[in-house]
Amino acid sequence: MKPMETPVTLETLVALCKRRGFVYSSADIYGGINGIYEFGHLGTLMKKNIRQMWTSSLDNQLGQVVQMEGALLGPEAVWKASGHVAGFHDPMVDCKACKRRFRADEFDLSKGCPVCGKKDWTEIRAFNMMFKTQLGAMEDGSSVAYLRPETAQALFVNFKNVLTTARVKMPFGIAQIGKSFRNEITPKQFLFRMREFEQMEIEWFCKEEDAQNTFDFWIKHRLEFYKSIGVDMEKIRIRAHEKDELAHYSKNCSDVEYNFPFGWKELEGIAYRGNFDLTQHSTHSGKELAVFDDATRTSYIPHVVECSVGTDRLFLTLLFDAYREDEIEGEKRVILALSPAIAPITAAFMPLTNKLSAQAKLLYETFKKTGMSVDLDESGSIGKRYRRQDEIGTPFCITYDFDSENDHCVTVRNRDTTKQERIAIDGLSEYLKNALHTWKR
Ligand code: ATP
Repeated sequence: MKPMETPVTLETLVALCKRRGFVYSSADIYGGINGIYEFGHLGTLMKKNIRQMWTSSLDNQLGQVVQMEGALLGPEAVWKASGHVAGFHDPMVDCKACKRRFRADEFDLSKGCPVCGKKDWTEIRAFNMMFKTQLGAMEDGSSVAYLRPETAQALFVNFKNVLTTARVKMPFGIAQIGKSFRNEITPKQFLFRMREFEQMEIEWFCKEEDAQNTFDFWIKHRLEFYKSIGVDMEKIRIRAHEKDELAHYSKNCSDVEYNFPFGWKELEGIAYRGNFDLTQHSTHSGKELAVFDDATRTSYIPHVVECSVGTDRLFLTLLFDAYREDEIEGEKRVILALSPAIAPITAAFMPLTNKLSAQAKLLYETFKKTGMSVDLDESGSIGKRYRRQDEIGTPFCITYDFDSENDHCVTVRNRDTTKQERIAIDGLSEYLKNALHTWKR
């Protein structure tokens, strides 16, 4: 096996995603729509695994975490209280010469337009990134609603509902996975900056005196998560925000950054938000959101530490991280060396020839019933089938051949090492479980 040195480009990944049905442009047959994507079979399976790993990563010694699924549409009152109506802006500028629109904070305007090179700019305007809509037939202000630009607000708005119904005690966390919508001025880099994307967020509610320790705890904990899903930790770093980057209410904020081919960029935001959000919603709604502390016999508004990562941005990160090319016996091979916990398909069952299809299918169906994500791959030479599975990240290919009829064994071929082992069918389930748990990058 000879590894190839050329680093993977965004274009290579986009092509792979389309070719193998991970991701398509939205409304593809109508020419696509900028910043919006749809996930095919393999992409959907992989995303499901990412969500599952994220959710199970939240269990820790800090306390209980409960789940929520908030609405996508929210009334204007929520977004006024959260500060998004007044402040969720990006600076926008147009090039008068070529009529392209840009985010003014992304490059040096004095160097000219990145498209046509001219220096003929409009004024920089504040552009609110929320998608505004109207509920029902009335066009008055009372029916204004917004698609949520972040999932977090539903967790703050429902804080008291959760506290009184979910049998939780302070401190505790509410976690949510769901779509967010931002009218990004310049969506780009594929799944990195989208207009419709998914976020996985946890809001951790605690006392003010515990907040800094909690913040430090979550930073460490989130790094462990990235390690557990097989990310190259050399390409991960924590970047603490400078004071002038912090939102006015935020006491401390650090980004988990990944070293993409287009530079170190935010993958996840970890923020100590003070008690700004609950205070705002309490003031605007007129509802009491303080909790009573039995020990001190006083009420307080909890402080919050938030961890927020984009599922799609993490999906893209994992693809960049896992993509390899090598050469075996003069033939180029593409591999997605994904953690088996993330790979869309765990094992592909293959009959050596069509004559053995029924037996391979039976094995495939038996494993499918156990809940394992499996594939039945019957067409083409075995070598070709291996390449096909390598390219979508399947860690194990299992071939049923003529010997299997007598020795009741199958050949298990490992994606990363290409080594093959003869394993008894009776012990296959145990073998796979063990291999899944002991996998290392
Ligand atoms: P950026 O600085 O990249 O715009 P942000 O600071 O606005 O990100 P947050 O509001 O902290 O992002 O959102 C939390 C996470 O949601 C980000 O770390 C990222 O993973 C994801 N995310 C945010 N905006 C987008 C987007 N337009 N497309 C895909 N994922 C996004």
